[in-house]
Amino acid sequence: MKYLDEFSDPALARRLIDQIHAVTTRPWAMMEVCGGQTHSIIRHGIDQLLPEGVEMIHGPGCPVCVTPLEIIDRALAIAALPEVIFCSFGDMLRVPGSGRDLFTVKSEGADVRVVYSPLDALEIAKQNPARQVVFFGIGFETTAPANAMTVFQARQLGIRNFSLLVSHVLVPPAIAAIMESPSCRVQAFLAAGHVCSVMGTAQYPPLASKYGVPIVVTGFEPLDILEGIRQAVTQLEEGRAEVSNAYRRVVPAEGNVPAMRMLDDVFEVTDRTWRGIGTIPDSGWKLSPRYRAFDAEERFAVGDIHTAESSACRAGEVLQGLIKPHECSAFGKECTPRNPLGATMVSSEGACAAYYAYRRLSLVGAE
Ligand code: SF4
Repeated sequence: MKYLDEFSDPALARRLIDQIHAVTTRPWAMMEVCGGQTHSIIRHGIDQLLPEGVEMIHGPGCPVCVTPLEIIDRALAIAALPEVIFCSFGDMLRVPGSGRDLFTVKSEGADVRVVYSPLDALEIAKQNPARQVVFFGIGFETTAPANAMTVFQARQLGIRNFSLLVSHVLVPPAIAAIMESPSCRVQAFLAAGHVCSVMGTAQYPPLASKYGVPIVVTGFEPLDILEGIRQAVTQLEEGRAEVSNAYRRVVPAEGNVPAMRMLDDVFEVTDRTWRGIGTIPDSGWKLSPRYRAFDAEERFAVGDIHTAESSACRAGEVLQGLIKPHECSAFGKECTPRNPLGATMVSSEGACAAYYAYRRLSLVGAE
């Protein structure tokens, strides 16, 4: 299949692996930011093909995993309201809140619907003028343009019974927060190509320069990731800390200018809490004043939300790259994809789910 087979070519992969081995003289630790990249690395065993001491640290770039518990609990409370049709992508339905998930709320009678686009939710709002339709808008810079477009259209069309429960997060402030952490071991980043396809690469040179880390923009197929690692290791070995784009077929340096204009109009930057990590200043978006009337948090007074994470779950440490999933004592025992204790086991992009799916069940050092 075009763009799949050719980016999984074993001969080209072997050549890139040989080049990485040839250039590496000492241990390095680099973080792939995106959960999609984590999934691909574990699925293809890329981390096991690298020179000894070159470690992939799995970053916090899984949108489902970092959506804060407080927002999940708020979603559960709004979804339970009798006048509400609550719409979401399917992967949010099993994310555990403090006590239950959206599936449970649905089984108790709430009108929770899985949609494939926020525009589907807008259509449901058109067809149900007597109901309130809420779309759960989470994710990084990649999913935000479609959500922004939907709110823009709702305003243009005068559809007042639609609102967005927003929890958008941004990658560059997360990179800064990771580098500021006293326990940070990251020496280079593989930046997420789909985020950069929207936002371009202009936000990264100041980070590379301030923290002295190479940042390589790359994609999700095995050859994309290997080329990203090759470029990052080469920079580290040569003492450089620059931004390079290993995903030029998708990422223009300037990004998607019309999408960025739409985002600027509909959203404004705000502090956001990341599940398992905490509050990162200026790390997310909320609706701008022009669109505030479509903010589900303001429309529905669901009272004080008191959150309680599972005491067994170490997803916060996983998301910060401090432990690997199989170092959590609940991994594969109390916590499985069928019975997840934390969000990193729910989402297909979550590091715990990837380790479980591809049988990385052993402890570090025993692989
Ligand atoms: S294995 Fe389960 S309990 Fe452990 S960190 Fe991952 S999601 Fe949390």
